[in-house]
Amino acid sequence: MTDKNIENEVLDSANSLEVDSCGCAVVPENIDAPTKAECPQSGTLSKKVLHETLENLIVHDKRDLISKDVQYYFCSDHDCPVVYFSNIDVPLFEKSDLSVKVFAKDKGEDVNVCYCYDWTRKRLSDQIRTTGSSTALEEIGEEVRAGNCECERKNPEGVCCLGAVQNFLKDIS
Ligand SMILES: [Zn+2]
Repeated sequence: MTDKNIENEVLDSANSLEVDSCGCAVVPENIDAPTKAECPQSGTLSKKVLHETLENLIVHDKRDLISKDVQYYFCSDHDCPVVYFSNIDVPLFEKSDLSVKVFAKDKGEDVNVCYCYDWTRKRLSDQIRTTGSSTALEEIGEEVRAGNCECERKNPEGVCCLGAVQNFLKDIS
């Protein structure tokens, strides 16, 4: 590959930064892997997720099974037990392999909508019920502006949860 090609590829990968509503940018780490891949169980077209996310959220006993050199994807299908898989044939990870409950796959009230600042479904709906509105978006926004966001480490989806919080609030109000 020529230097020019490498330069173009770097530029391309910079242009394809996935920017979420709060400004968190998730850089697909393996630019040669397809942008999306189908979950082997549900067939759901899934987005890339960083190794960092798996390394933080997979239970200790299973962490050795994370393959270093492959791209992982996050399956967001509600009914599918698979959370992380690769387009390469390596062990995949299911809900029970994570140390947290996955918002997209678990309807429980104790499940986090925002993982960085511990806003569960229950905390959000309790606040709406008692005060008529939620301070969550404002509070999360402040933390994001202060650079305290850790979505790529704490949210199983590896992206900003602000959109999920927004949608959840819309659904319950
Ligand atoms: Zn799936």
